[in-house]
Amino acid sequence: MLKLFKSDLHIHTCLSPCGDLKMSPKNIIHKALENNLDMIAICDHNSAENVQAVIKAAEGKNILVIPGIEICTKEEIHVLSLFEKMESASKLQFLIYAHIFGENNPDAFGMQIIANENDEVEKFETKLLIGAADLSIEQVVDEIHKLNGVAIASHIDRESYSVIGQLGFVPDNLNFDALEISPRISFEDARKRFPEYRNYEFIQNSDAHFIDDIGKVTTEFLLAKSSFNEIKKALKNEDGRKVIE
Ligand SMILES: [Zn+2]
Ligand SMILES: [Zn+2]
Repeated sequence: MLKLFKSDLHIHTCLSPCGDLKMSPKNIIHKALENNLDMIAICDHNSAENVQAVIKAAEGKNILVIPGIEICTKEEIHVLSLFEKMESASKLQFLIYAHIFGENNPDAFGMQIIANENDEVEKFETKLLIGAADLSIEQVVDEIHKLNGVAIASHIDRESYSVIGQLGFVPDNLNFDALEISPRISFEDARKRFPEYRNYEFIQNSDAHFIDDIGKVTTEFLLAKSSFNEIKKALKNEDGRKVIE
């Protein structure tokens, strides 16, 4: 028996320098539940350091937290990676950390807070997370797939940091599992604007950097249960699982 599940699969935390300091694990879960979300994904820039705390903050609550990272490739293209297990996100983070350089300047870019599940500051990340990793888009998508993750082109309708903004198009050989549209455009308008990508699944997420943006837009999935593997099936249109536009 398949059911509808509401998701917002692109949420930043206070670890992202551009993320509001109120984007703490408990606050995020509280807001997501208030907006009746069944599934969220935590995707900070080039890091997964706050994912575990959000997963812990969700313990005993009726919501699934999916580990993710929003990688900035060397072409300055944002790619969302989602995984079943924290372990896989950590492996990708390990690779990214070997390919990002420089130190964060909190005055210029914002603080990068690693929090625990009780919303306490554990430490400040000093690596410069906001920059581009020295990894090509091909390498990034390939690594995500090697780790059994899902690779999604971020906010394709936006000029900045999107694959279309940077390359002019979505190269088919990259094998993205889905294309994400931003809250600025509806599914209907996105389909009209991008007819050449009719074979791709589109999903829409908030890309929230502020609490009130969580769940502002959502993607509904028809699934047997809320799980990463069910989402993966929906993105491939398998066994009746699908994205509802
Ligand atoms: Zn982005
Ligand atoms: Zn983002």
